[in-house]
Amino acid sequence: MIAPCGLDCSACDIFRAPGDPETMGRILRWFEKERGLKLREEDVHCDGCLGDRSRHWSADCWILRCSVDDNGLRSCAECSRFPCARLEEWAGSDDGYRKALERLKSMV
Ligand code: SF4
Ligand code: SF4
Repeated sequence: MIAPCGLDCSACDIFRAPGDPETMGRILRWFEKERGLKLREEDVHCDGCLGDRSRHWSADCWILRCSVDDNGLRSCAECSRFPCARLEEWAGSDDGYRKALERLKSMV
């Protein structure tokens, strides 16, 4: 369940929501309050970044597109340019992303 970017999809609220009513309720309330969106439970789903793309929550993610779609890889750790400057910049924007990049580095 490790995503191409190194994040753990199994720990993601969107991934867990369909089997977890408390998480689902929190997500639906968040979208209504913060985004003015009234989502239905069936709108909230994701099979993980290496799962069915038609059910992916963020199918247009640039990391997913670069690693999986453009380069045919399962993760950035398999890339000859890893870690590229854009991935380093992404990792510098958030502690969770930094940890994800460190996880990928440990997989090389
Ligand atoms: S959608 Fe993109 S940034 Fe989010 S976990 Fe998947 S590969 Fe990583
Ligand atoms: S170029 Fe960067 S974002 Fe694309 S697969 Fe390689 S390391 Fe990942």
